[in-house]
Amino acid sequence: MGETIFALASGRGRAGVAVLRLSGPRAGGAVAALAGGLPAPRLARLAALRDPGDGTVIDRALVLWFPAPASFTGEDVAEFHVHGGRAILNRLTVILGALGLRPAGPGEFTRRAFENGKLDLSQAEAIADLVDAETEAQRRQALRQLDGAMGRLYEAWRDRLKVLLARLEALIDFPDEGLDEAIEGEVLAGTARLRDELARHLADGHRGERLRDGFEIAITGAPNVGKSSLLNRLAAAEVAIVSEIPGTTRDVIEVALDLGGYRVVLIDTAGLRETDDPIEREGVRRARQRAATADLRLHVVGPGDPAPGLKAGPETITVANKADLGPGPADAVPVSARTGAGIDRLLALITARVAERLEPGEAPAITRARHRLAVEEAVAALERALSPLPLPAELRAEDLRLALRALGRVVGAVDVEDLLDVIFFEFCIGK
Ligand code: GDP
Ligand code: ZN
Repeated sequence: MGETIFALASGRGRAGVAVLRLSGPRAGGAVAALAGGLPAPRLARLAALRDPGDGTVIDRALVLWFPAPASFTGEDVAEFHVHGGRAILNRLTVILGALGLRPAGPGEFTRRAFENGKLDLSQAEAIADLVDAETEAQRRQALRQLDGAMGRLYEAWRDRLKVLLARLEALIDFPDEGLDEAIEGEVLAGTARLRDELARHLADGHRGERLRDGFEIAITGAPNVGKSSLLNRLAAAEVAIVSEIPGTTRDVIEVALDLGGYRVVLIDTAGLRETDDPIEREGVRRARQRAATADLRLHVVGPGDPAPGLKAGPETITVANKADLGPGPADAVPVSARTGAGIDRLLALITARVAERLEPGEAPAITRARHRLAVEEAVAALERALSPLPLPAELRAEDLRLALRALGRVVGAVDVEDLLDVIFFEFCIGK
């Protein structure tokens, strides 16, 4: 390390105030050069920032100084709260560069915090989630993970595994014919309990991941039944559209909504029509695929249509659209995308389903595929360790070690060097 980095920590674009953050051994020197001295640690001081070259004032700013190790990154950290104008930031960037500091890469501050032991990896990821949070549920989940709940859970599992492993290793190193079987039996019972707990942790209905990435609702039905009109109605009724989803094609249109604090992604699958055109067929295939993997399906029918005989696929709400023209099947929810009738009731129904599926439980949920894969790997290793075959204790111990390592990767306790570039690249600059 050794290098001192800096970046705009606040949002890009014109703003009243912009926060420029510095971290590394030259941070203190840079503050002294610009502000004429260091403020008392952790106390804001108003100062004129001067160009060290010609002494001209660049801006009046609040200056904060967090000496190592009691700082976010664990290094010397400083902040300049300047006015948010482009010219100010451009000038400071040039000066800091001349003082031997360099612009930070994505997630570099958080990465340093992780590498200096200020955060575990799940907490570092929680910072990215908190910055990206668009809905209340996403914010709460990220904050909980940042608080270390996930890290504590995994560390507790790892501690238990370490005890089991130590007992097994003692058995290998100091065999005691009289006790061997009893000890091995205890280790296996403890291993089985741990495996069951991890399996329950996995069987969470992907609650945390859906909460973070969005609960997907596919709108299906025959062409011209009013799927696109319904999507527009639902999106317009729910004023808090949180984001446009880029890269949507002609075949699949997606809109993200904030429904009762949950991020929900509505997917319009452009008609499951029969066609001979190969390109169109590909579109239909993709639409089917999306509908099949969605968390909930709104199946739209028209007046006079029979109730659909849907069996396979996700949980379904049947919607009878064009209620202004006539009734649909009895058990469908009547709406009119044209007049807006029934839309509020449909939204309330959907919101209740989403809340029921994503409601946070007692224990922290898995929030990322990376965590899920690691826990699955741990469960598989524990399964092997529990093999009913008369295995040598060395083999069982090896599998316990693999499980320990898999769980350790979630919190960043072991060999994650290869993961860090990927994980922190997802961050934006300044975090
Ligand atoms: P999609 O092919 O399923 O996406 O259907 P569209 O949303 O494109 O709608 C097909 C046609 O039905 C359009 O002419 C819409 O204006 C009309 N339509 C959609 N919803 C309603 C409705 O609730 N009532 C009436 N009367 N017409 C509707
Ligand atoms: Zn359509």
